[in-house]
Amino acid sequence: DTPQTTYKRVMLKISGEALMGDQGFGLHPPTVQRIAREVKSVHDMGVEICMVIGGGNIFRGLQGSAQGMERTQADYMGMLATVMNALAMQTALEEEGVFTRVVSAIPMDQICEPYIRRRAVRHLEKKRVCIFAAGTGNPYFTTDTAAALRASEMACEAIFMGKQVDGIYDSDPKTNPDAKRYGEISYDDVLRANLKVMDASAIALCRDNKMPLIVFSLDEPGGFGGIVRGEGTYTRVH
Ligand code: UDP
Repeated sequence: DTPQTTYKRVMLKISGEALMGDQGFGLHPPTVQRIAREVKSVHDMGVEICMVIGGGNIFRGLQGSAQGMERTQADYMGMLATVMNALAMQTALEEEGVFTRVVSAIPMDQICEPYIRRRAVRHLEKKRVCIFAAGTGNPYFTTDTAAALRASEMACEAIFMGKQVDGIYDSDPKTNPDAKRYGEISYDDVLRANLKVMDASAIALCRDNKMPLIVFSLDEPGGFGGIVRGEGTYTRVH
């Protein structure tokens, strides 16, 4: 008996750091595999899945430029980092028997497909998990914006953002035991209160395209599946 959900197509956004486990850097294959199983459990419910994975576990443009590197060059390195993460996730998903395609905003024909919107839609219809690599393909953006953009282009019903905390709090729950979690909040209020959920351009894109965002904890086993069924704790931004 497969658990039920009303979602037909969703975007899962995770940061690169979600893939590094307890290491301070890079990829931790057992952690990548664990997340792949979470994705499979939702895929098994018949949900079409888009994924955007960050690159911060390997390289962040802003950090590079803070160390004197030219910003756009550093950002391109960050985008390449997301391709490495996408390939790692592809391998892990196929290990679980889930068919996937990596589609890149920057063509890299030997490694993955170039992003062509109608082709990506077709992959989803054929129940392939579509991993969108290389962010938006532009420097000065983040993979949050890539998730907002591709979710809108693919007509996803929501973006699920897997974090290390189970939603958006009014202050940091790791340092403040009285921190309060929002059940729901508007994009305008997120921007007004300057809550660190996504960068401002990604939030604005979601708001303008009426794309709901669900922030949940990826550390809870079964978390993604539960949240897609509407169980567990999370924050819904709309
Ligand atoms: N990046 C970029 N354009 C994009 C997406 C990403 O230039 O459209 C670069 C940017 O330098 C960023 C890096 O890729 O720092 C890694 O992405 P991000 O910081 O979003 O990863 P996360 O924090 O989610 O792991």
